[in-house]
Amino acid sequence: MSRPFAYRRGQLACGAMPLAGLARRFGTPLFVYDLDAVLGAYGAYERAFARVPHQICAAVKANANRTVLAALARAGSGFDIVSGGELAQVLAAGGEPRRVVFSGVGKTAGEMDAALRAGIGLFNVESAPELALLAERARRLRRIAPLGLRVNPDVAAPTHRHIATGRRGHKFGVAPAEALALYRQYAGHRWVRATAASVHIGSQILDPAPFAAAVRRLGHFAAEVRAAGCALEALDIGGGLGIAYRPGERAPSPAAYARAVLAALGKDGAGLRLILEPGRSIFAAAGVLLSRVLYIKHNGGLRFVILDAGFTELIRPALYGAYHEILPLRRRPGRRSPAEVVGPVCETADTFAHARPLSPLAAGDLVALMDAGAYGYSLASNYNGRPRPAEVVLQRGRARLARRRETLEEMMAREGKA
Ligand SMILES: *Cc1c(COP(=O)(O)O)cnc(C)c1O
Repeated sequence: MSRPFAYRRGQLACGAMPLAGLARRFGTPLFVYDLDAVLGAYGAYERAFARVPHQICAAVKANANRTVLAALARAGSGFDIVSGGELAQVLAAGGEPRRVVFSGVGKTAGEMDAALRAGIGLFNVESAPELALLAERARRLRRIAPLGLRVNPDVAAPTHRHIATGRRGHKFGVAPAEALALYRQYAGHRWVRATAASVHIGSQILDPAPFAAAVRRLGHFAAEVRAAGCALEALDIGGGLGIAYRPGERAPSPAAYARAVLAALGKDGAGLRLILEPGRSIFAAAGVLLSRVLYIKHNGGLRFVILDAGFTELIRPALYGAYHEILPLRRRPGRRSPAEVVGPVCETADTFAHARPLSPLAAGDLVALMDAGAYGYSLASNYNGRPRPAEVVLQRGRARLARRRETLEEMMAREGKA
């Protein structure tokens, strides 16, 4: 997916709308999402998988903004959730419960009950005790639990170690032999119906090969499960497709990803519906985090650019050493020189960029942290007593405040009297 933001008469803009005007109108730090770009990325997946039965379930953990989720739901998207809270967010956005898949290693009984009552499409179960609890909850509520076991394909994903999930030693998934035994054990269970087998190998993966390897294993595995007498009807191939964060970086398109995956699946996929759980590749490039330069200072021979946004708004650089391009909203003439771009949070890790060549910046200038539409706001916190920022959604040249800035009263509302 390409970014919807570009310079227009020296100003960074979305279409004809300069981002600086939004920063002035709504304040900073501010997340801005272009809805047409989100829907465009979703549509690219739809087209890429059009020749096979499929359901796209956007990963809510990447971006849970209600306006954004509602637009995806209207376009036909389902959702991948990892908690009862995300289930509530999807339902509040008008998401279709049957198009919801519930992933994650630590579902509680209460979360299972809420999902069973809502009538979600699939539980991706990650352990034998979790499956025992799901069966128990389904029996009590007298609701059928649609089951997929998330198998651990033991595939290495070339990404940051914190977001690789598909190796044997990770907490995720069940080894294929154990999963096969569980499908056998629950075959014919009155309240559990095995309908799918699932994988998810990690995030920000830029090479189609590990996806192909994982899906090939999943396909072979599903064939074994079917041979054992379980009538699976779907394969959930997870998310994880990366995006180009760095200038010059290349990410496979959904079309290239689909080609690799469908070729790897071959006839093992025949008759099975594919479920996809893309997160980052749907949301990231459609969003920016706007921030104002508070101060410029020099320390130890380094130039520090101090922003009013910190890791409380965008934690990826602190958490994974992630790279986000930083662009001034108004271009100034002059030579680029290295800068340490930091936030106001009292932690050395509150650093967006080291030795980043940046054009001249002065206090009061506005910048955009690019590709912040995924794992930005959803990872925001109140650390250092910082209220969470506002989110603005753009569509066809109009700006809408989709979530207003948290107030200090709201931040403190759940505490009792001192
Ligand atoms: C995080 C996650 C996703 C989405 O990953 P992206 O890298 O954002 O595409 C999909 N499925 C599961 C199970 C996840 O944990």
